[in-house]
Amino acid sequence: MKLNNLIDGESSDTSTAQWGDVFNPSRGEVIAQVPMSGPTEVDAAVQSAAQAFLAWSGLPVPKRAAILFEYKRLLEIHFDELAQLVTRENGKTLEEAGGDVRRGIEVVDFACGIAHLSKGESLPRVADQIDAMTMREPIGVCAGITPFNFPAMVPMWMFPLAIACGNTFVLKPSEKVPLTAMRLAEIFLAAGLPPGVFNVVHGGREVVDALCRHPKVASVSFVGSSHVAKHVYTLASAHGKRCQAAGGAKNVLLVMPDAEPDSTLRAILGSSFGCAGQRCMAGSVLMVVGSKPADEWRERVSEAIAAFKVDDTSTNAAADMGPVIDAAAQGRINNVIDNAPSSGADVAYRGDALPTKGFFVGPTLLDRVQPQMSVFQEEIFGPVLSMLRPESLDEAIGTMNSLSFGNGATIFTSSGAAARQFTSEMQCGMLGVNIGVPAPMAPFAFSGWNGSFYGDLHVQGNEGVMFYTRQRVILSRWDKGYVRAQGW
Ligand code: NAD
Repeated sequence: MKLNNLIDGESSDTSTAQWGDVFNPSRGEVIAQVPMSGPTEVDAAVQSAAQAFLAWSGLPVPKRAAILFEYKRLLEIHFDELAQLVTRENGKTLEEAGGDVRRGIEVVDFACGIAHLSKGESLPRVADQIDAMTMREPIGVCAGITPFNFPAMVPMWMFPLAIACGNTFVLKPSEKVPLTAMRLAEIFLAAGLPPGVFNVVHGGREVVDALCRHPKVASVSFVGSSHVAKHVYTLASAHGKRCQAAGGAKNVLLVMPDAEPDSTLRAILGSSFGCAGQRCMAGSVLMVVGSKPADEWRERVSEAIAAFKVDDTSTNAAADMGPVIDAAAQGRINNVIDNAPSSGADVAYRGDALPTKGFFVGPTLLDRVQPQMSVFQEEIFGPVLSMLRPESLDEAIGTMNSLSFGNGATIFTSSGAAARQFTSEMQCGMLGVNIGVPAPMAPFAFSGWNGSFYGDLHVQGNEGVMFYTRQRVILSRWDKGYVRAQGW
């Protein structure tokens, strides 16, 4: 199947000679081909979005909200189909894919409240006979660039809220998972969205750079790896656009000696090996305070991952873990594991009961990792958990704060004092206490810090509304002299 772009409400083919393969990662088989578009297709989509902006931004807010309510209704009807599509092109289990779609729909739920969310403020008598009010106005054509790991949720972090605010949108989904994004757009059109309000252009760097440079694009939202986030932030800012660019991560799970063992183990497994470790909030470092507890946790985690059924998620609903996204990721991650012992790490467990087809990597625990090692400092983005053994909470926090990233970290403890020290001293934007994946839900911003985020206002929540609107302040003086002048 060859995919088209979606421009001005219509399927639009391209003249490109370059096509990318979309795989079912569980089988290693090509399931579709995606056009690698260029500046011409970007310009067509942006011009359509700019044209549609005039009418869409002028529509009364409740009428925009009515289309979002209908979109929500249709997404629920298509829920299973979307989850299956996510599993097919991304490889995560059907249950994980359902979570991906559900988290996205929650943003649509949130955006349905746009009338309340985008209200301004007012202050009568801000000065003598002068009243002040603010209005939040849409900004124009917004662009979104998304990664492969959440084919439904991450695009939906962006376009429902941007469009609810009165903007029009051009999405450049990951070329590795374009199918879900296309269905999300088609369903939005079926909900009554006018042509041109939501456009999809497929491709890679050329499309991204053309969006960042296009004079009619007002904002760029990006989610992906840190080096590309920095590139997009730099390029979009240099072209005068507001930009939010979320990058990679190295998230730490800190286990104190007083952690409750059963729920902590479940949380570690879900966080580190769920979605085959390909979540920006995946726990990829396990820190266990104290050497006796560290020996015990090494045993517990190794035993649990040895029991994982790693399998084709598109046919086996009972699989605990699926493949990674492609052969390149598989090779890169296996290389990291192969080389870990040469830097002094100890491979405590490496899964090898894997299907022969597809892009599978065995779930792996590396022990005796040191802070100077690359398996501690760099994002691996696969089912590999690196274990460190700090002596104290102070040492653990100091080591965690040496990371260049600042997405997520969690403490497992029964001590309120330890939790409080952790949540006040960690230099990181999303923290959990006894939670495996402390990813904020739709009403809250997805708040990466440091090397995990470039920009100011994050996606989701009120920050999302602020990002997709600009504020007008109006000062009025209506003193009685004007009434008298009319002779009333
Ligand atoms: P990626 O950076 O390779 O790709 C993301 C997007 O950028 C894609 O649409 C891709 O086509 C485009 N792109 C890739 N290289 C580019 C380049 N050189 N110039 C311009 N555009 C380019 O990321 P990925 O591999 O798809 O996704 C995994 C990464 O995303 C991980 O680092 C993960 O931590 C991160 N991520 C972060 C968050 C977050 O909220 N911080 C959420 C999800 C994923």
